[in-house]
Amino acid sequence: MEPLLEVRDLATYFYTDEGTVKALDGVSFSIGQGEILGLVGETGCGKSVTATSIMGLIPSPPGKIVQGSILFNGRELLSLSEQQMRHIRGKDIAMIFQDPASSLNPVLRVGFQVAEAIWAHTGTPIRKGILRAAELFGLVNIPDPQKTVNRYPHQLSGGMKQRVMIAMALSLNPKLLIADEPTTALDVSIQAQILSLIKRLQRDYGSSVLLISHDLGVISTMAHRVAVMYSGLIVEQGRVEDLFQDPLHPYTKGLLAAIPRVDEDKDELAVIEGTLPNPTDPPSGCRFHPRCSLATDACKIERPPLKAVKPAHEVACHVYAR
Ligand code: SF4
Ligand code: MG
Repeated sequence: MEPLLEVRDLATYFYTDEGTVKALDGVSFSIGQGEILGLVGETGCGKSVTATSIMGLIPSPPGKIVQGSILFNGRELLSLSEQQMRHIRGKDIAMIFQDPASSLNPVLRVGFQVAEAIWAHTGTPIRKGILRAAELFGLVNIPDPQKTVNRYPHQLSGGMKQRVMIAMALSLNPKLLIADEPTTALDVSIQAQILSLIKRLQRDYGSSVLLISHDLGVISTMAHRVAVMYSGLIVEQGRVEDLFQDPLHPYTKGLLAAIPRVDEDKDELAVIEGTLPNPTDPPSGCRFHPRCSLATDACKIERPPLKAVKPAHEVACHVYAR
């Protein structure tokens, strides 16, 4: 399968007063046509920076993509101008965020906001765009779409606002949808509905999805493949069934052993002893070594490359090279 998105050796740094934050330090993965790739890892590991890098929305300064390649449909996104990227955002690559309220304009009616997005990319008149918005609201199970297009964001619940964001993302039938923790801010009862919506729309529209989550349960039910991120790097990736049944990296094993029970309602992965390393001064060699019970002296010196050790299953750990 020809990949829709191919990220190679991507490094994104932030130059701060405290030092250089190496948020991404050589990230590689790809997403096939119509595929859902789950990107999982603890808060601060670089998941959102990966999304913002792909969208061309890294604030600069202090941020900068210092190395790598992002091929989208065979086109190098990193060599495009801001104007060319603006055309791709929304139309070819759409994104939904954890907090839908922050992406909606509080003083504009939601139907108008969707219509405006459609107008910006296609020139469709606003009045027609509002009709399209009502159609899309119906598609994402917003009750009474004709009325809801005239509502303001504050008149809608969090779950409804996220549906509006999904409708907006879908208004242009994007090839790639990036969903960054799309259900984290929502009630548990709403989460499943939003996820099944994303899945249904991926199926019906054939879009590819980069689904970012710290919740392995979400990833396991949604994704075809999963990439595990740790401290600015992908440490393991493979098909969901392979990775969940036979995790290879000690970090992935720890994550899976620590899946919170549903009734615990945990906000974050409470996992392996220790914390994510300071990204301004990451550990030498394998960045996981201070937390790894299998670490040897070699692990402290040499960074393990991401390598296929089984078909379609890659891991970055010296154990598998020994
Ligand atoms: Fe542990 Fe070494 Fe593997 Fe890193 S490379 S995960 S420290 S065994
Ligand atoms: Mg994040």
